[in-house]
Amino acid sequence: MHAIGSQTIRRRTAISNVVERLAQLSVLGRYEGGIDRGLATPQERAAREHFAGWARANKYALSQDRVGNLFARREGTRKDAAPILAGSHLDTVKTGGAYDGAYGVVGAMCALELLDARNIVTEHPIEATAWVGEEGSRFPLGCLGSAVFAGLTSAEHALALCDESGATLGDALAHETGGLLRDVPQRLNNNVAGYVELHVEQGPILERAGARLGIVTAIASQRRFRITLEGESGHAGTVPMAIRSDSLGAAAEIILAIESTARKLGEAVVTVGRMTVEPGSTNVIPARVSFSVDMRSPHDPHVDAIEHALRDAIARATSTRGVRASIEALEGRNATPMTPRMREAVRRAADSTGERSMDVPSGAGHDTMCIAAIAPVAMIFVPSIGGVSHVGVEKTSDADLELGVETLAAALVEVDRDLRA
Ligand SMILES: [Zn+2]
Repeated sequence: MHAIGSQTIRRRTAISNVVERLAQLSVLGRYEGGIDRGLATPQERAAREHFAGWARANKYALSQDRVGNLFARREGTRKDAAPILAGSHLDTVKTGGAYDGAYGVVGAMCALELLDARNIVTEHPIEATAWVGEEGSRFPLGCLGSAVFAGLTSAEHALALCDESGATLGDALAHETGGLLRDVPQRLNNNVAGYVELHVEQGPILERAGARLGIVTAIASQRRFRITLEGESGHAGTVPMAIRSDSLGAAAEIILAIESTARKLGEAVVTVGRMTVEPGSTNVIPARVSFSVDMRSPHDPHVDAIEHALRDAIARATSTRGVRASIEALEGRNATPMTPRMREAVRRAADSTGERSMDVPSGAGHDTMCIAAIAPVAMIFVPSIGGVSHVGVEKTSDADLELGVETLAAALVEVDRDLRA
């Protein structure tokens, strides 16, 4: 009885730490507009110091690589086995909240502590991981740390990137205030047996469905375009409708066409979030319109279909409305499906909690996309209240934060077992 009682107390401590620790991190970079914690700033380095402090308190061996990714290792019975990694990122967008990224890092540390509290022995070492620069914060490269770790980008390339003031990441990491941590040995390999990322959903699907856990199916494919349409300007009162080439009317037709395609596909979204209209007067026919298109889906063929609809609609508008069009393809990435065995391990973990879970795609990008290039991967989501993220008021309930840690700990045990089989 006594042993069970003390284990319960220790277990509570480990879980409730997630809320407390997120609160500790949330003051780093906090201002009236949210949290701004750019890579290799004093605030972001302080977050890395917190992580290192928690690892030291637990006697987990720490390591860091050349770009500042941090690893806290809980040993397994097979010391030569590649580790299972669990983590996320500590940087934020300029108007970030307390949970995006930080939750997956703190949650991973708490999950390791939970395994300790329950005296659970794993065969593989498990490492809580803090990736740097996922948000493309300060330096212009998204998923910077995980991309370097996975070998998708060289450390040299990353270290030579400049911020707006012209300072390189290499300079910033060599600097006292934003730099690499002292007395942390360098990690020399990127061995990884599997990776699990815990994250807030950043969307409304779980909350609307009344599910408390999301088992991610895939990270969405994403393509972005800039479309420019050129028509003829003219007097709003004197040019008859039949002979106009109104570029904004053409844009409206195109936007409605791609919207309707995305609606029909179901698991696809398309957004026109930016538009400029020239000359931009109430009494002048718009001559030139330029707008952005962002299309995403967990299924690559769905994104193909929306791109097809976009090009079709543009072709129609140019012939029927007499506008000229240019299509500029900006960034794009294919969908990253989660590894089926890893997904099933997460599902068993979610089921073990007795809480309602559901499969969900991730519309947002995550470090998991990069790690998928070198290891099997899975992601766990917990609900975001109101579905909002990348804003200061981003919030997840304490109970859901704790449930996510519980699920991650169980998932790591399941993955360890699965990798042995
Ligand atoms: Zn994130």
